[in-house]
Order: sequence, then structure tokens, then C-alpha cells
Amino acid sequence: MEIIDTIAAFRQARARFGELGLVPTMGYLHAGHLSLVRRAKAECGAVATSIFVNPTQFGPNEDLERYPRDMERDLALLRAEGVDLVFAPAAAEIYPQGFNTFIDVGGVTEMLEGAARPGHFRGVATVVCKLFMIVQPTRAYFGQKDAQQTVVVSKMIRDLNLPVEVVVCPTVREPDGLALSSRNTYLTPEQRQAATVLSRALTAAQRRYEQGERNAETLREAMHSLLAAEPLAQVEYVSAADPLTLHELEVVGPRGALLSLAVRIGATRLIDNVALE
Ligand code: AMP
Repeated sequence: MEIIDTIAAFRQARARFGELGLVPTMGYLHAGHLSLVRRAKAECGAVATSIFVNPTQFGPNEDLERYPRDMERDLALLRAEGVDLVFAPAAAEIYPQGFNTFIDVGGVTEMLEGAARPGHFRGVATVVCKLFMIVQPTRAYFGQKDAQQTVVVSKMIRDLNLPVEVVVCPTVREPDGLALSSRNTYLTPEQRQAATVLSRALTAAQRRYEQGERNAETLREAMHSLLAAEPLAQVEYVSAADPLTLHELEVVGPRGALLSLAVRIGATRLIDNVALE
């Protein structure tokens, strides 16, 4: 496994491989990230993982400075998975003095995470596009955990004709349903217990859907009522949206729906979602 921190050296190393899968991450790896790496290993001749805590996708009052980092541990995990290339640049390598070009995907970036975190998807789209240009992957692997991100990246690829195929992988969860996230490490034991309310709310609404409920407001209310019962949970949004446009639905139609929510447990902001087929 080669660990590379400059764009020039990465381009040289990449040239030795044909088909290449890319797993972009912000590090502090867990089993969710590793499920993407395994899928990429199974489907591609070679695999590259990027580790980069991207400053442009964090708002001024967000957790950029305290975002958890453990490069040695991450590298050991990636080595054990048989990853070929790791790209772990410093911020100044990606955003040198004078950097001034950003990608604005529009439409699907306006609601949900985009409304709650202004500028977030501008930072995501910009860094993902740069990583695609540097890494030149055949396929790129993303988690369903960040559902809106997969919609935004797919739209950018279509709009800009980028020669990359997106593969979306299922959300990996703890046995009690909590979606794995690097941010779970912020939670105290009591908050960790309370955090199961996200997946419980989604499961409750999903069950209503499976029993035949198609009124989207009823599904949103089903999530709200579980969340209201958890005193440590502060709801930011609850959504039942069209899976392609991300517009809120009145009725769930043949395209199904994306149920998603963002909840603060203490100071920690958690997101989760489930796709209704
Ligand atoms: P991050 O390091 O949080 O930027 O995540 C890197 C990639 O891993 C993104 O595509 C995430 O959607 C994905 N990911 C994060 N958590 C999970 C999870 N619990 N299950 C599956 N994929 C995940």
C-alpha cells in the first residue's frame, strides 16, 4: 500500500493501474467506511482511498477543528483490507493560496442538509470533483448514510459529464440500529443510548409504509412522535422526500421516498435515512 500526500506523486502512482475504485473519506475509519472499501475491492482491479478532512464543507461554527483524526489507525485498517493507494493530502495541497473555483450543483443542494448547513454541498462537490480529477477513478463508492450527498455527486457527474460511475453502498449500523459515524465518538454513554432514537423513528415510519400508509405527512408525524419522546433529542428536520428531486412529498408514489432526519443529541449533530422502495 502506497501512502501519498501530493497530487503530482499520486498522478504518477495512479498511472500504473488501469481500472481503479475510489473511496473518498474524512478518515477516523469505521466498519461503514470499510464496507465501501470491500465493495470496491470486489468490483475493481485496484482501490484508492482518500483521507481528507475537507475544510470547505464545514461551516464556521462546525466541528472542523475537533473532527476526530487517527491516521496511523486508519492506515493499518486500509492495509489490512488490501488497499493499493492512499491519498492523504494536507489542506494546502488541495486549496493552495489563491484557490477560488467552486462547484455549485444547485437544486438538490438547497434542502435538508443544504438548508441546515449553508455551503456544505458547495464544499463537497468541489472536493469530490477535485478528487475525481486527481485520482481518475473508474468507479467511486459512497454510503447511503449520506443520501443527499449521493444525489448531489450523481447530479454533478451528469451535469459535467465526468467519466465516473457512482456506487451507493448500504448504511452499516450498530446492533441497536445506530448508523456508524465518526461523530458517534462525541457522544457520552447516556447520549449514545438516546441516539438510537434516529433509527427507531425511521423504522417506525418504514413499518407504517410497509403496512400501506402512503400519506407522507403521516410518515413524517410517525418519526416526529418517536423523536418527541426522547428528551435528549433536538430535531433539526424530518423529511419524506422524492428520492430524485428531494422535494417534500404529499403522497408517496411509484418512485418511493427518502425518509431522512437530522437530530442534535447534546452538541452532536447526527443524520440518518432510509429509502422506501
Ligand atoms: P465520511 O468519512 O463521513 O466523509 O464518510 C466517507 C464515506 O463513508 C461517505 O460516502 C459516507 O456516506 C460513508 N459512510 C459513512 N458512514 C457510513 C455507514 N455507517 N455506512 C455506510 N457508509 C458510510
